[in-house]
Amino acid sequence: MEEITDRIIHRDESFRDRLTTVDEKGKRKWVYPKKPAGRFTRYRHWVAAVLLLFLFTGPFIKVNGYPLLLINIVERKFVIFGNVFWPQDMYLFVLAFLAAILFIILFTVIYGRIFCGWACPQTIFMEMIFRKIEYWIEGDYMQQKALDKMPWNREKILKKGAKYAAFYAISVLIANTFLAYIIGVEELYRIITEPISQHWVGFTALLVFSGVFYTVFAFFREQICTVVCPYGRLQGVLLDKNSIVITYDEVRGEPRGKLRKNEPRTLGDCIDCMQCVYVCPTGIDIRNGTQLECINCTACIDACDAIMDKIGKPRGLVRYASRNEIEQGRYPDAEKPKKFTARMAAYSVVLVMLLGIIGALLFTRGMIGVRVMRAQGTFFQKTENGNFSNLYNIKIINKSHQAVPVQIKLLEPVGKIQLVGNAITVPAEGLADGAFFVELEKKQLAGMKTPVKIGIYDARNNKLLQTAQTTFMGPM
Ligand code: SF4
Ligand code: SF4
Repeated sequence: MEEITDRIIHRDESFRDRLTTVDEKGKRKWVYPKKPAGRFTRYRHWVAAVLLLFLFTGPFIKVNGYPLLLINIVERKFVIFGNVFWPQDMYLFVLAFLAAILFIILFTVIYGRIFCGWACPQTIFMEMIFRKIEYWIEGDYMQQKALDKMPWNREKILKKGAKYAAFYAISVLIANTFLAYIIGVEELYRIITEPISQHWVGFTALLVFSGVFYTVFAFFREQICTVVCPYGRLQGVLLDKNSIVITYDEVRGEPRGKLRKNEPRTLGDCIDCMQCVYVCPTGIDIRNGTQLECINCTACIDACDAIMDKIGKPRGLVRYASRNEIEQGRYPDAEKPKKFTARMAAYSVVLVMLLGIIGALLFTRGMIGVRVMRAQGTFFQKTENGNFSNLYNIKIINKSHQAVPVQIKLLEPVGKIQLVGNAITVPAEGLADGAFFVELEKKQLAGMKTPVKIGIYDARNNKLLQTAQTTFMGPM
């Protein structure tokens, strides 16, 4: 072990003083990453293809006549997998939001920034769409650099023009999709096809979203991950020595040095070819250790594996591993079970509990919401037969996709209920108001306030849909 730890280099840490994409004067340094290739890049293409397919077709997929996902903040209407959620269900969202934050924390503690590299929309759009178009039109990193240095001539104007036109077209497509998740495809279709004067708010939103996406992917790029994204900035507190991150195996790689033909190699496996640095979309050198800028995109793994194949060394000099694995000199084929730390256990318990609560709430969430209140300004009335009656107002929300005729019954104590006006039918996804009298005998009263329980039944099949508690006012 001593021998191994002796080989861990104590590096010059000055690279941590500033972002690699910013020079000494604070000016942006443009990153020209080399086109990545290899098995991880291939896997990521598949994952990205599935996620992009899901994202772009999502607004068109209907479940129970509703979109798969709709986050209509304007009308406070949310649809998840065809289930409509109302502002009254907001507590579920709060719990789901808390569970999501905990999930992200737990996931990051164990797997580092795997989300950033494989599933983050920013990375997928940037690396799998916009960057691909850039390679296709301008060529690989060396040609891109040469093009940027070139004076403005026909070739440069054509290439840059084509690239930015394609970028804008895709930004418009993303903006449309984004808006479809907020207002629904039908409303979006109206905005696109009807005169702008009738939808100027929607049209402006489309223009703004398109402009924002275009600016982000054409110019701002990796700065979103390194400067803006709060998740990236949290890494410092979330990662520990057992977190799995993309890392350089310095025990095996150091001391690094160029490969010399016909000379016995006494150095480590890193031949200082810089391929892992050239492919990095955030411009860092993974050999400096885990850094805030690393989005776990796997490009450096593929680049280094290709070099290891060429020089006849085992793959994995740059790989998914924890700091502990590296420091203990565990090579990829010497897999030992990952240590499940107390922190992971604590997060897992809370997460499972929260998911359980959310599951139970969703599972038991009634399709009918009801509010019963004694009519304002009223007290009790004495009926002709010597009983007492109270007047109540009722508000019923129907969260289902069908109109529901309802019947109101008094469950506790046993007594009479008399509806004011016609029978109530609650429209699909709508509200209905009503009023009713509850009549109790004097012997049923428990002082001034008697608790009563009301039942709302489906009039078609006499099925209890919801209950509500209130109080009955009586004489002292
Ligand atoms: S260091 Fe490697 S994994 Fe991290 S961003 Fe750069 S290329 Fe991607
Ligand atoms: S690609 Fe591998 S061998 Fe080349 S510099 Fe990076 S770590 Fe060293």
